[in-house]
Amino acid sequence: MAQSSWKCHCSVPYCSNNKQSHPYLSFHDFPSDDQLRARWVTAIRRDEGATFKILRGSTYVCSLHFNNDDIYCTPKGFRRIKRGAVPSKFYKYISSVDCKHNVKSFTPIHSDTYT
Ligand SMILES: [Zn+2]
Repeated sequence: MAQSSWKCHCSVPYCSNNKQSHPYLSFHDFPSDDQLRARWVTAIRRDEGATFKILRGSTYVCSLHFNNDDIYCTPKGFRRIKRGAVPSKFYKYISSVDCKHNVKSFTPIHSDTYT
């Protein structure tokens, strides 16, 4: 089995988490159900189109964007998203979450360094 999970990166705007820098996160495929997938796309504020294509195996949402209640562990130890769950936690929430992990990969955009 050719697993390339290290290539996983999050497709949520402002979130640049990837498996390499955040091995403790899990990365989740978009659902195959059209309606549910559309709800995910809306939730992360993206539109499927020329600039954003959902490709199974390369477009993921990291576990930071889900409520803990929406994530469960399989008997093999894989983290999965519950059926019907939609990502609901984003940057502005993440930064205020009382969390052990420093959210280092979120780079604030400071334009005031330019003259
Ligand atoms: Zn993410």
